[in-house]
Amino acid sequence: MRAVVFERYGEAAEVRDVADPEPAEHGVVVRVEATGLCRSDWHGWQGHDPGIALPHVPGHELAGTVEAVGARVTGWRPGDRVTVPFICACGTCPSCAAGDQQVCERQTQPGFTHWGSFAQYVALDHADVNLVAVPGELSFATAASLGCRFATAYRAVVQQGRVAAGEFVAVHGCGGVGLSAVMIAAASGARVVAVDVSERALELARKFGAAQCLDATSVPDTAAAVRELTGGGAHLSLDALGSPGTCAASVNGLRRRGRHVQVGLLPSPTGTTPVPMARAIALELELLGSHGMAAHSYPPMLELVRSGVLRPDLLVTSTIALDEVPSALAAMGAAPGAGATVVEPWR
Ligand SMILES: [Zn+2]
Ligand SMILES: [Zn+2]
Repeated sequence: MRAVVFERYGEAAEVRDVADPEPAEHGVVVRVEATGLCRSDWHGWQGHDPGIALPHVPGHELAGTVEAVGARVTGWRPGDRVTVPFICACGTCPSCAAGDQQVCERQTQPGFTHWGSFAQYVALDHADVNLVAVPGELSFATAASLGCRFATAYRAVVQQGRVAAGEFVAVHGCGGVGLSAVMIAAASGARVVAVDVSERALELARKFGAAQCLDATSVPDTAAAVRELTGGGAHLSLDALGSPGTCAASVNGLRRRGRHVQVGLLPSPTGTTPVPMARAIALELELLGSHGMAAHSYPPMLELVRSGVLRPDLLVTSTIALDEVPSALAAMGAAPGAGATVVEPWR
């Protein structure tokens, strides 16, 4: 099969022929019809992820059809249209047994812990735990865009954040995951305040349902501006960017007993980020993390996508072929961009 391969971190990836994957006993091989390009792929290529072994094939936001099935898989057969969460679970550890596959103790991530989906085929383990059926009405490109940023935003807003109609929701950072969160919160009936430093990002946030947009460069104190716009603070606030500044602004922009959900990753040299804990105590705030979404949680989200209430397809701004991935991957470092690119390996 053809695949995007890199031999060394940060050095140009290339498209070449490699051996076709075989399914594990409990796994499947999926023919990749569409796979999203994500900033995590750029981080992996740069060597920021210690789990990646070289040579490597990146790619983790995929949808396609089942090509081959391992002997012990019971729920899937060749030809099934499927997608997967970017965190694939083992199905048997205590977290999986409790239904929390998104924090599985033996999780695998295609494109990180093993070869991913910038290829014509990808092997996925524990298929009965991890595969999600894609309704016939959904295009593969739309389905591929769900697995990482959209499902992550859905879990952050709906499951961890417990959004309710009429609440004020602040979203700090309107990149892919932030814009997804704006769309999901607005569709849930919340009044969304979108915060970003880019006019273009705020324009998109307004298009996707933000009631109010706040340009963080135009105010001295973002949290104070959010409290002002929301009559005392947001009920629910997300740091969708992941920086010490946006994390603190999100916590400080909450009202009493508000909920902060940390969605953006917070890499730091010490591994820790300062959080305004005094405010968390005084106002009885809830501080929550959110990490992907388990396969069994997909059906309600898929139903909202199928019925057109949620439109992840609007977030996809370009579609490219496998040959264009190496240059697109390199370009991500310079310009993260607000839109999503989908790769079609058979083009
Ligand atoms: Zn991703
Ligand atoms: Zn597990």
